[in-house]
Amino acid sequence: MNQRLNLIFTSDNDWLAQQAWEFLYDPDRRTFLALEEVNFTRNVLTAIPAERILPRAVMRILVVVAQPLGLGALSVDEETDVIRSGFRRLLDAKLAEVELLLDATPELLHRTLEAASAPFDILHFIGHGEYRENEDCGYLIFENPEGGVHELDSSTLRQIVCRRGIRLVCLNACETGSGGHEDFSRGVAQTLVAGGVPAVVANQYAVLDVSATAFTRHFYWALALGQSIGDAAREARVAVNYSISGEAIDWAVPVVFARNPTQQLSLPQPAADYERTRTALMRSRRRAMQDRTRIGMWNAHRMIPHLPEICERLTRVQRVYSFEVVSFPAPIGTWRREQDKDQAFVVAETLYERLKNKPKELGLDRLVCMINFPLKSGKSKYLYYWPLKAGKGDRLAIVSTFDLLEQLTGPEFTVERMMAHLAAAVAAGLTPHHPGVGPADCPYFYNKDRHISSIAGRLRFCAACRRQFKGKDGQARLRAAQQLLAAYP
Ligand SMILES: [Zn+2]
Repeated sequence: MNQRLNLIFTSDNDWLAQQAWEFLYDPDRRTFLALEEVNFTRNVLTAIPAERILPRAVMRILVVVAQPLGLGALSVDEETDVIRSGFRRLLDAKLAEVELLLDATPELLHRTLEAASAPFDILHFIGHGEYRENEDCGYLIFENPEGGVHELDSSTLRQIVCRRGIRLVCLNACETGSGGHEDFSRGVAQTLVAGGVPAVVANQYAVLDVSATAFTRHFYWALALGQSIGDAAREARVAVNYSISGEAIDWAVPVVFARNPTQQLSLPQPAADYERTRTALMRSRRRAMQDRTRIGMWNAHRMIPHLPEICERLTRVQRVYSFEVVSFPAPIGTWRREQDKDQAFVVAETLYERLKNKPKELGLDRLVCMINFPLKSGKSKYLYYWPLKAGKGDRLAIVSTFDLLEQLTGPEFTVERMMAHLAAAVAAGLTPHHPGVGPADCPYFYNKDRHISSIAGRLRFCAACRRQFKGKDGQARLRAAQQLLAAYP
């Protein structure tokens, strides 16, 4: 491996400390330095020595979820599943152990760290942070036992976390959207590093959660294979670049604070072994999926950050369809809109023309294109779902969440349920009811007024729709579609 330059910023000058150094650009070579040979790291001035790091064979990760994830009416088990799925690669390769602390209060965190049989290497925080300008102090938002809010200031947090063998704290915003995501790097991260935690990763801007997830997944993986903190962060920035489509600068959002970026958390591991195990695992998973109808979800405007977890669950609850997130650069002109009175609409027929070859190109049986612009077709405006007629060759469905996501506040109406109903409708592939015909709680109800209850409430196929599933094969598809409807009860 080529030698990389470790650039460490240590400053008590506010202006210097707050600059986004990760964006440094080399105009001669037209490249961002952070994606090439420079590892950017920040440090703080402190008299307290960093805790010693001795590399270990297996990383122990404590995941602290300090605010409800907004996953609707998920049981604790289900929420645990969603979170653990983010660490699957590490767990499959037996490179990490993951423990979860849900509904975390400061007391619960303290007791867990105090009583741990073996020290945790990584503390992974999912929740919100806040920086108060007037106090010059950062806070993490925890829950209190009554389910309310407990704002924990960074120096108390430091007392709970420091000197317990934790080598890395990762501060990750969750997707509930309430409260600020930003400002983790101000106050909290610095305080922890100053208190002796060897490394802290924080987001310097509100980051789309899909990028934050891509970053931490790859960061942990590289650390587990024995890469240094600085090198692992650089590899993770590269991973963010190919994991998402769209905004190209998300890789710069996570900031690494470290005393010594050349340190390793884990003993070097031969990656090849793990990649082989992983390939075998993926092959067997793929074999199990081979007979299924493949449905791709393109989250074109990235409105639903945890779509991968949702797809995983939808695939698990039945045996006929598989769901996956797909991502590709939008062809030129995809988002061209047509002005109609004071609203600009994406026109379904036009979008269909642009994307109709995509399902085949991607090897999918069906593709769902999810947009957040208002959608219209030749006949109707403000459509939620298109096409309005089932056709044999129809492999592409277009869905517009315009104006809807704000209404999905749970527990009654949730994004998860909306996606489960959509999956059931796309899977079943029937023609929606005629306007005004049939019960409003059928997923094929022509929901002209876009009532949220007919999108994300509790739905079931009406008798007329059920009758359209014919024969043994039809019955199997109906059962699967019903299982999809019930995926988030
Ligand atoms: Zn119906």
